[in-house]
Amino acid sequence: MTAKRLLVMSGKGGTGKTTVMASLAALADEPILADCDVDAPDLHLLLDPEVRESHEYLGLQLATIDDLLCTKCGSCHQVCRYDAISEDIILDETSCEGCTACSIVCPEGAITMVDRVAGDVFVSSTRFGPMAHAKLRAGEEASGKLVMEVRSCSDRLAWEHGSEHILIDGPPGIGCPAISALSGVDAVLVVAEPTLSGRQGMSRAVELAHHFDVPAMAVVNRAELNPEEATVIEEWCRDQGVEVFDRLPYDTAATDAMMARRTVVEHDDGPLAQGLRRLWVQIQDVLDVRYD
Ligand code: SF4
Ligand code: SF4
Repeated sequence: MTAKRLLVMSGKGGTGKTTVMASLAALADEPILADCDVDAPDLHLLLDPEVRESHEYLGLQLATIDDLLCTKCGSCHQVCRYDAISEDIILDETSCEGCTACSIVCPEGAITMVDRVAGDVFVSSTRFGPMAHAKLRAGEEASGKLVMEVRSCSDRLAWEHGSEHILIDGPPGIGCPAISALSGVDAVLVVAEPTLSGRQGMSRAVELAHHFDVPAMAVVNRAELNPEEATVIEEWCRDQGVEVFDRLPYDTAATDAMMARRTVVEHDDGPLAQGLRRLWVQIQDVLDVRYD
């Protein structure tokens, strides 16, 4: 059995994506979880993972200059497109992109490329199932590659546990990390808020999914705060062939649950919790039947 992979995206921050994702994790039957927001992860605040294994993630390589061998010829300074080596041959590590050009042109063999630890990958247990997640170290880039590590970790966990669903909390935006998170998923759920910027974030996320031939589904969160905008978003989605689910209501339970570090569906059985339960049933109908 191959697990179905569902990516939860928003296209912009602040739509309540993580609130939705955490409750889906609570509602699914023994899912595998993946937090692909490696720059500023926050799913762990609600799921309280206990780390079982971890390994370092090696990002871009870093140039190192051996001052004893260097004759200050200046070739490395001239070839570096990232201005990482000054005229007096001082390396700025934060600017080095690991392209290796300087090590190739150096006539003295004074430059060596070394691995640089850019982050950490974790496999943790949560009260809902195993979770793959990661943390990029301060000042490091290449988070798309780290997201791929999290994804392959979650695939391995699904295979080991025979899980039916992998639920993936996507990174914000539509850049390299989002594209990595999108790779090979069965469907995307876009969580939108009923504002103009919410509509723009939604359309960016849907267009990204469609660009990679991934079916998109959508739900408007806190819909009654602006029902007219919610309607505009839903109509746009339907025009794009996006499956639109029942709206989620504004409910202070979202904040109360966050403060209590619990998911909404664990916190109470109010309007939002009921909406989330309905949402998971609707998602399963589409994911397990239509995309089977
Ligand atoms: S290319 Fe090599 S020898 Fe020349 S300045 Fe750079 S490190 Fe020194
Ligand atoms: S590896 Fe590339 S980016 Fe880094 S210092 Fe050398 S030339 Fe510049």
